[in-house]
Amino acid sequence: HRPKARKQIINPDFKLEDLGIGGLDNEFKDIFRRAFNSRILPPEIAEKLEIKHCKGLLLFGPPGTGKTLIARKLSKMLNGKEPKIVNGPEMLSKYVGESENNIRKLFKEAEDEFRQKGDDSDLHVIIFDELDSVFKQRGSARSDGTGVGDNVVNQLLSKMDGVDQLNNILVIGMTNRLDLIDSALLRPGRFEIQIEIALPDEKGRRDIFLIHTAKLRENKILTSDVDFDELSALTKNFTGAEIEGLCNSAKSFAISRHTKSGAIAKIDDKTISDMKITRNDFLLAL
Ligand code: ATP
Repeated sequence: HRPKARKQIINPDFKLEDLGIGGLDNEFKDIFRRAFNSRILPPEIAEKLEIKHCKGLLLFGPPGTGKTLIARKLSKMLNGKEPKIVNGPEMLSKYVGESENNIRKLFKEAEDEFRQKGDDSDLHVIIFDELDSVFKQRGSARSDGTGVGDNVVNQLLSKMDGVDQLNNILVIGMTNRLDLIDSALLRPGRFEIQIEIALPDEKGRRDIFLIHTAKLRENKILTSDVDFDELSALTKNFTGAEIEGLCNSAKSFAISRHTKSGAIAKIDDKTISDMKITRNDFLLAL
């Protein structure tokens, strides 16, 4: 009689560029090495080594660096589904007990399914954005002064502790401010794996440029003077989101060169179909 085996659900041979994530290879590797051995190793080996399922992963770093992007892609890889994304402040309610209730509801579907099926083959991913807005150090000064946040922290802690047997839940928390997070949340069994998603370096920025211009390159819309080495050198301290914004802005400059001015720019079908985006469009955007 074999115990119900956990499925080996991640094929470790994947390429980050295929996922549309640039410059975060080491961070992604780190996440897998530290958090997902229970899902990468063949089930018999994971069992032999008594590898524990990781219930909580915390991604921290400046806004726009790709935390949400990573969390979504992870969820897709882990269970093929869009994750549930909740926003910290949305959980808070001024009504007594309602905030705790919101947290309880988040976990209910996964708990019910686990009880029904008795195995953890379907992983539920809950993404918790702006974690710091709710899970500040308990007892610290809070803007609302109601203590609602304390109850929510306690409720989430009790849920995460409670999911001990429920190996089908992964909570991915995200924050710009690791220093504000209640330290009780960072203990083993809770958000025990913390990974910094920092600003991309020059190579990372180049990769992000390539991702966000993939379609343009495929359709041969960029002129040959567009130089991604130059652009990545010029965009020190840019986030991934800002690089994406820069590419969009370069498109707008190119489109306005190819449209007739008026109250609303008129698009000339012929010129727009011959449209090219040049180095200068990127420099203007910059
Ligand atoms: P916040 O802390 O504000 O929630 P975030 O770190 O979650 O920010 P995202 O929402 O993931 O940032 O990034 C916004 C968008 O910027 C992404 O949807 C993506 O299009 C682009 N982007 C950010 N980082 C990267 C990256 N490393 N590779 C490719 N695209 C990126």
